[in-house]
Amino acid sequence: MLHTESWFIGFAFGFAPFAYIVAALLFILALAGLSRQETAQKGNYAGIAGMCISLLAFFFLIGTTNEAGMSLLLIVVAMAVGAGIGIYKALHVEMTGMPQLIALLHSFVGLAAVLVGFNSFLITPGAPTAENAFHMGEVGLAVFIGAVTLTGSVIAFLKLSGKIKGKPLALPARNLLNLAAVAASLILIVVFAHTRTVYAGLGVLIILTLISLALGLHLVASIGGGDMPVVVSMLNSYSGWAAAMAGFTLGSDLLIITGALVGSSGAYLSYIMCKAMNRSFAAVILGGFGTGSATHSERDYGTHRETTVGEVADLLRNARKVVITPGYGMAVARAQYPVAELTRKLRDMGVDVTFGIHPVAGRLPGHMNVLLAEAKVPYDIVREMDEINDDFAGADVVLVIGANDTVNPAAQEPGSPISGMPVLKVWEAQNVIVLKRSMGNSGYAGVTNPLFYRQNTQMLLGDAKTTVEQIAAAL
Ligand code: NDP
Repeated sequence: MLHTESWFIGFAFGFAPFAYIVAALLFILALAGLSRQETAQKGNYAGIAGMCISLLAFFFLIGTTNEAGMSLLLIVVAMAVGAGIGIYKALHVEMTGMPQLIALLHSFVGLAAVLVGFNSFLITPGAPTAENAFHMGEVGLAVFIGAVTLTGSVIAFLKLSGKIKGKPLALPARNLLNLAAVAASLILIVVFAHTRTVYAGLGVLIILTLISLALGLHLVASIGGGDMPVVVSMLNSYSGWAAAMAGFTLGSDLLIITGALVGSSGAYLSYIMCKAMNRSFAAVILGGFGTGSATHSERDYGTHRETTVGEVADLLRNARKVVITPGYGMAVARAQYPVAELTRKLRDMGVDVTFGIHPVAGRLPGHMNVLLAEAKVPYDIVREMDEINDDFAGADVVLVIGANDTVNPAAQEPGSPISGMPVLKVWEAQNVIVLKRSMGNSGYAGVTNPLFYRQNTQMLLGDAKTTVEQIAAAL
């Protein structure tokens, strides 16, 4: 026993609730801060402070228990191992590998919720009684959401990292299968909450877990590769609810609050992403878009025009207003640093340079903003799609750097897989220069882009990093 003094126990139990309220407020501040680039760093610090305060309170509470020394040792060792792996991953992950890493991390939350659920059930002394039916219900729900999150996230990770094909699994009556699994799980949770012996309870819990694991697997396997980032954000939301349910099981108010924050913010993010891609949430869940196979248009858009680094440098030198619209290709090429350098040069020459960012440019929301911030592009020249879309008509040159779907005018016509998706109206500018590696590849949605064949568009083919470096040098 580490601390038996009553003053310490009194202090720990008095301090913990207060600390948890402060931590919860800091987590809310963290989310608010992370919503804007200017305040993102402060938001991160608020989150770190909240985590440190809650850990401190937790350590105090552990100090009041029997075997406190051993418990603390085990927790510190587990945290050190987790932190070591986390730091290593954070330092080594490529921005392009972020979605699959996030998917993998969600699977851990799901697994934790399942384990916490089983543990909570098994340490209930004696056979479950009618009094703890409510608690049993919480355990069942935690295991259900956790197991769906676990296998769903693993499949999302495998698809995003290309370890399995992005093509949706199309089992006959798949929606009916999902519905049946949800209904069976809910019935099993009720049955589980009313079991009277440990063995009966354990049996039902195991069956519930297996059905939930299969549901998570099937749910995500049925969704096409193109919708996978929305699915990741949806799983983020599930992982939050799984954590909140684990909070109920453990009687931890802070975990309930934090889980609910993650759950609701994840759900809202999924909604924003669906809106930016003009997809309904139901359509994402039911699959269809982004089947992994390209859907090239049969229409003949004519021939494209190619240009050279020297010509583009001349165009930029004589421009008054330049807009840069980056996309996934900038991330792949890691061209953000030369792009920032080019921006500095142009601004020094008196050219008005702004950036137009589409909400789903890249492979996760905010992808472009993070890259540009990393390369120290000033925040005040980085505009969201709604803020910039009316300005393209007044631009002398638009540089489309590794963007495709997000600048595709086909989205404004009926009949295209991306019809209705809001896009950056780059074609309204006097000159459009598109930087990509070849004419062969389409964007993520696999749709041909008529922008490349417009009269005011010229293609500058090559790796974006090399090309932008060459333009900056030519200036
Ligand atoms: P796209 O994936 O549509 O296009 C990327 C372009 O970059 C391609 O034209 C590719 O052509 C080019 N490219 C790739 N590598 C390089 C390189 N090294 N140098 C130069 N060019 C390169 O990107 P967008 O950002 O325009 O669109 C994002 C897509 O992702 C949308 O379809 C969106 O719906 C989808 N998506 C995004 C989500 C998000 O949250 N951000 C969520 C869900 C989906 P080439 O290979 O010829 O070089």
